Parts: sequence; structure tokens; C-alpha cells
Amino acid sequence: MAIDVVWFKRDLRTRDHAPLLSSSLSGRPVLCLFMLEEERFKLNDTSPIHINWELDCAIELSKNLKKIGLEMHFHVGNAEEIFDEINKIYGIERLLSHEETGNSWSYERDKKISKWCDSNNIIWQEYPNNGVVRRLKNRDFWKKERDSRMRIPLNEPPLFSNCVLFKGNIPRMEDLGFANSVLTDWPKPGEEAAMERLNEFLDRDSKRYSQSISSPILSIKHGSRLSPYFTAGALSMRRVVQKTNEKINFIKMNKTAIEGHSSWIRSLSSFRRRLAWRCHFIQKLEMGPDLDLVAQNPMIEKNMDRVLHIDRFEKWANGNTGWPFFDACMRQLNTTGWINFRMRAMMMSCASYNLWLPWRETGEHLARLFLDYEPGIHWSQVGMQSGTTGINTIRAYSMTKQGKDHDPNGEYIRKWVPELSMVPTDYIHEPWKMPEKIQKSIMCQIGKDYPEPILNEIESRKEGIKKSYSARKGDDVKKISQRILKKHGSRSKPRKRASSKSTTTQKKLF
Ligand SMILES: Cc1cc2nc3c(=O)[nH]c(=O)nc-3n(C[C@H](O)[C@H](O)[C@H](O)COP(=O)(O)OP(=O)(O)OC[C@H]3O[C@@H](n4cnc5c(N)ncnc54)[C@H](O)[C@@H]3O)c2cc1C
Repeated sequence: MAIDVVWFKRDLRTRDHAPLLSSSLSGRPVLCLFMLEEERFKLNDTSPIHINWELDCAIELSKNLKKIGLEMHFHVGNAEEIFDEINKIYGIERLLSHEETGNSWSYERDKKISKWCDSNNIIWQEYPNNGVVRRLKNRDFWKKERDSRMRIPLNEPPLFSNCVLFKGNIPRMEDLGFANSVLTDWPKPGEEAAMERLNEFLDRDSKRYSQSISSPILSIKHGSRLSPYFTAGALSMRRVVQKTNEKINFIKMNKTAIEGHSSWIRSLSSFRRRLAWRCHFIQKLEMGPDLDLVAQNPMIEKNMDRVLHIDRFEKWANGNTGWPFFDACMRQLNTTGWINFRMRAMMMSCASYNLWLPWRETGEHLARLFLDYEPGIHWSQVGMQSGTTGINTIRAYSMTKQGKDHDPNGEYIRKWVPELSMVPTDYIHEPWKMPEKIQKSIMCQIGKDYPEPILNEIESRKEGIKKSYSARKGDDVKKISQRILKKHGSRSKPRKRASSKSTTTQKKLF
């Protein structure tokens, strides 16, 4: 009897898993497949931490599959060759998977697999993932469709009685030629750990979400930290949306007994909006699959003519710019694989405006560092924060101001930049202003023990902003920007800001 293959991609869970549900109804033997594709290892936006995280989540998934009567088949190699081999041994009737909105490589790979299925008379049944709608021409009805998907009832894992057994070995990082990850703060992998973190966040840490997410220090506890789980698909988006709605309703019903209930509800509503942004940005990549290769507004990119200055790039990438708060953030990211939204935006802004580096190389570098690398969000944000879309305001962050706002006493800087651990608070954000005498007494000589600033921060930022505005001039540029807005722009009405206090330079293009 021919088999069903359930191909696990970035959907490493048993709950709310439409392909699993469908195969449970077919009565055919089921083979669950997880592949590590060697071609992917060489891509500029892939790093061993991504492979390690997916593998860890897949191993956890294999334990959950056993509980419902299935076995995960682990394979390393080329997708087409692996499918060929399975087909020769078992005969595949149907290939079942979620739709994947990944980078341009996975897009091309899926086209090849689709052809391979056609030529082997195999039905490839793909199911919608999250709130991303395939074959959409514009965004007019996207939100309605997304919201209705979020209301679909949750599914518990189905049970199976007919499973194709796995006789191979589970690959290890060293077999693939990689060392195990050296990141600190490695999250507990898998679906159960993801649900545990979701509950902890909803029941406790979300209370201070809104006040905390802009700070690299507070967001570690009060942000959801669900992003690596979303990326591996260990949780479905609709589960998180529905559980958040339940929590909001619970707080509303019990508000007299809950201290700070209104700010908690505001925090959860703000979190829920970000969940929708996730779908919004991945939808953008779905409708423009070369977002990781081509600037959204190529005319702006051409006019900018940014240069890959290697020395600047390396200092930026390693957190050795001589700008203490920036260096602390970059070193946190290098060590832990995670940093909050505001600091990610600041990293792109520093690279793009102060250092005038091209978005593709800096974007690829950040992609390799983020454990939660999600192409749709990442490349949309890289475009926005580097000023190459033409439809977003220019946001050039002052790193010194961010540092003073979020780390007034410099404790965060001292933690991540130990060279500066003895610097008095008065100079911690601008150590180059420290008198010689103090530098000597604390054995921290600027230019020797810690670098001089790579450039003058204020001047380089001003210069970057000026060049960016002039790159946006001209009818050709504006025509492309308008086309982008029509195709990808959010149809939601802009929300009124509670405060006009801004830490960025902003100016509306339209
Ligand atoms: C240059 C740049 C690159 C980024 N690259 C990625 C990436 O590769 N992967 C990634 O998951 N996020 C990315 N983000 C968005 C954001 O920084 C992270 O989602 C967030 O920091 C993850 O932490 P959290 O799970 O605690 O977020 P929370 O604040 O708890 O938010 C919950 C979830 O909402 C989604 N979300 C939050 N903020 C955004 C946003 N601005 N846009 C879209 N979705 C959002 C994420 O899925 C997140 O897990 C990027 C932002 C910037 C500025």
C-alpha cells in the first residue's frame, strides 16, 4: 500500500498541524520526514545555530510523535534525492506539508519538488500556515482572511495506528561538520517548552510588556521570547492568538480582583498587534519572494550607492565600534542569539546611516546571528530600517541617547563590554571624553584598551540622513514607492501615538 509522507519543515509540532490531521484520516501508512538539506548550509543567511535549533526541536517532536503512534525519519542531503529514495522503497501516494514562505532558496527548492511530484504522479497537498494567504493579488481582504483563520478551533494531536518505522540514526551536529552551539541562553527546545513559555508569559511576565519591550534589559524577562519557537513552528500562530484573547477576557471578567488590570490588558493588546505584524510581514515576502535579494525600491538603493567598507563592517559586526551602548547590544546578540526589536532597529540604523554600509551584507550578518531568523520579518525590517523602501519614515537612532535612556548608569554596558567596567558613570556613554588621568588610573586607555569611536556619531548620522533623503528624490523613485505601497501597504488605519516623544529622526515621505 502506498504511503502518505508528512514533510515537517518549519512547523515542528503535533498540535494544530493540518497535514498530520489530514494523514490521520487517510488510513494509509504515514512516514514523518525531517530533512537537513546540505545545500542550505552554504547560504549566506544560514548559520549553524539555525540548524542546531531546528534539529533540537525536531528531536523533541520525534518524542511527541512516538506518543501518537508515529516515527520521525531524519535525513541529511538533497530533498529531491531523499524523496526519490523514499518513493522507490515505499511508493508515495501523497506528500503533505504546510506552505512555506522562506528565503529565495526555499522558494526555488519548493518549485523543484513540485515538478518532481508532478513527474512521479504524487499529489503534493500544501496547507496554509499562520495568517499567510497564498496567491493573493493585493492586501484589500488580507486582514479579514487572516483574522478568520485565527478563529479556527485548535486541534490536539490525532492518533495513528499505521506508521512507517525509522531504522536510521538521528544526525548530530558533529556529523554535519558543525560544533554544537556555543550560545548562552539556549532556549529549551520543542513544543512543550514553547507552551510552557507561552503560559508563563501570559500569566506573569506580560504584565509589564508594554513598558519593557524597548529596553534590552527588561525585554529579556517581559518580552514573550516566543520568536525562536515561532520560527521553528513549535507553536501555531492561532494558538497564541486564541490563548491571548482568552487571557484578555479573563482579566476583563475579573478586573475588580486584578491590580493593574487596564495596563495589563493594554500590554496584551500590544502583544496581539505584534502577532498580526508577524503575519503581515511574512505575507509581504509571500507576495515578493525576492525580498532577500533585491531592494524593495531599487532606484533608492542605486542612488544611495553604499559601499562595503570591510573595516567598518567588521567593527560593526563584532561590537568594536567604540560606541559603548551599540557595542554592548551587538555583543549580547553575538553571545545569546537574541536582542529586542528596538536594538535590532538600532543595529541596522547604525550600519545604514552612520556607517553607510549596504543592507544586504549587514542584513545577512544579522540573519546569521538571530536564532529566530524569519526571512519575511527580517528582510522587510532590513528594508525599512535601511531606508530602501521609500514608503517608510527614515529612522536613524542616536545610539548615545538610546544608551542614556535605557542604561542610565551603564550597568548593561559594563556587563557586555568588560573593558569599560571601571569607567565612571559620567563617562560611560562617551568614554572618549574621559580625561587622560582617569583613563590611566582605571587602566582603560581609549584607543588601546577600548577603541576610539569609529566615526563622529552625530556627524555621521546627520550625513547618512541627508544622503538618504536626497536618494528619495525624483519622480522615478516616487513611482516605485507608490507601487510598493499599493501592493504591500497595510490597510489598517494608523494608530494615534500616545506621546510624540521620539528618539529618532522622522519625516513622512508622502
Ligand atoms: C532589523 C530587524 C530584523 C528582525 N528580524 C527578525 C527575525 O528574523 N525574526 C523575528 O522573529 N523577528 C525579527 N524582528 C522583529 C522583532 O525584533 C522580533 O520579533 C522580537 O524582538 C522577538 O522577540 P519576542 O518574541 O520577545 O517578541 P514580542 O515582543 O514578545 O512579540 C511577539 C511576537 O510578535 C512578532 N513580532 C514582534 N515584533 C515584530 C515586528 N516588529 N515585526 C513582525 N513581527 C513581530 C514575533 O513573532 C514575536 O515573537 C526584526 C526586527 C528588526 C528591526
